[in-house]
Amino acid sequence: MTIKTRFAPSPTGYLHVGGARTALFSWLYAKKNQGNFVLRIEDTDLERSSQESVEAILEGMTWLGLAHDEGPFYQTQRFDRYKAVIQQLLDQGHAYYCSCTKERLDEMRDTQKQQKQKPRYDGRCRHGISDENIEKVIRFKNPEQGAIIINDLVKGAITIQNKELDDLIIARSDGSPTYNLTVVVDDMDMEISHVIRGDDHLNNTARQINILNALNAKPPQYAHLPMILGDDGARLSKRHGAVSVMQYRDDGFLPEALLNYLVRLGWSHGDQEVFSIKAMINLFDLKDVNVAASAFNSEKLLWLNHQYIMNSAPDTILKHFIWHLEQLKIDPSTGADPILMITAQRERCKTLVEMAEASRYFYQDFDQYDTKAAKKNFKADSEIVLQTLLDQFSNTKIWDGEVLHKIVLETAETMALKLGKVAQPLRVAVCGGSVSPSIDITLSLLGRDKVLNRIQNAIDYIKNLDK
Ligand code: GLU
Repeated sequence: MTIKTRFAPSPTGYLHVGGARTALFSWLYAKKNQGNFVLRIEDTDLERSSQESVEAILEGMTWLGLAHDEGPFYQTQRFDRYKAVIQQLLDQGHAYYCSCTKERLDEMRDTQKQQKQKPRYDGRCRHGISDENIEKVIRFKNPEQGAIIINDLVKGAITIQNKELDDLIIARSDGSPTYNLTVVVDDMDMEISHVIRGDDHLNNTARQINILNALNAKPPQYAHLPMILGDDGARLSKRHGAVSVMQYRDDGFLPEALLNYLVRLGWSHGDQEVFSIKAMINLFDLKDVNVAASAFNSEKLLWLNHQYIMNSAPDTILKHFIWHLEQLKIDPSTGADPILMITAQRERCKTLVEMAEASRYFYQDFDQYDTKAAKKNFKADSEIVLQTLLDQFSNTKIWDGEVLHKIVLETAETMALKLGKVAQPLRVAVCGGSVSPSIDITLSLLGRDKVLNRIQNAIDYIKNLDK
């Protein structure tokens, strides 16, 4: 059997982490089994869907690297097909027109609630309606007897009695198909073998299987993923902070780190925390998906991001880092090679936003020193230290970390100063603050011109302090 999975978002907002996790698990399962991954945009709810959301979802999927093998298919382009299937169900006696008014349905629901019954349609129009001209919806004739057993690949066997289900609406009075109908037709036509989705859809699954049975189609296998909770135990939502995938990009996360974090939300492989994409594909299996809900932990995501920043080959980070430099209006062509920058900065930066911000002075001159750092390191006697360094640096022919480091060491020695008394004023002079990569790397990445200019500026600044 060819494995085919799908991600079927409704474009009513951005791609959020819950959706991204569903997409990832579906993608992984397809990749692991040399199958195909389908992207389907469920845009039949015209009021709530928007082109902007479609684009946001596609952008999120692209950024995450979850490429689809088929699609994207748009449900709004398949209305004729849905209509044909609805007609087929009507012709074969699996569906019927219903002319019950909203008032009648509301009244029925209220009575059922009062009697502590589950609200459900009572089937009045099952046996025909009198007035053909009246506004009517189409309902699926759900079997009245028997039960549906969902052999869920995550949750195990779940039995749902047909008498618990009512006759759901498959076409609205304007003829447009409803969610459960379109999903069934698409899963059938697209030959989806495994439906992997959030367990909020579990209630729909029995209904969908009944429709598939009526259409003589073999239902796919289902895997319902546990919910994602926020740190307060409630379902993850906007109020828990960033839930949009693109917000994580903006906040300086690497897509691989987010994917690694998401794969662990509800799936585990022993105690292993860090998984390359390749390892995820190799190791992923639905049987290892947890049944219980998992809680989103931003600290752990940040930790993972740092692991990826520290351990990935710099060239895989490059395009993301350049993107962040550009967001901060830093032109990477005005300073150090960004690849070398990544290597120099990555130990101390947990996000690429931090890294870009911490790299600013390598590309742009600053017009202010960090107040505390300047106060501590720019004293009257630092002037002579900086002047000595300036002379030495101006004379050196080779601009190389090792050579520069030696000059700093020798200057300290000659002046009988502790290394910090030389290196720190120098650091503040060339970086504007007291935090930077090691001084030799900092100097070599800044380059001769920036270093000489900035030392001169610091000397002038100190001279002015006396006045
Ligand atoms: N369009 C549905 C949603 O965004 C998903 C449907 C499905 O996966 O079956 O919730």
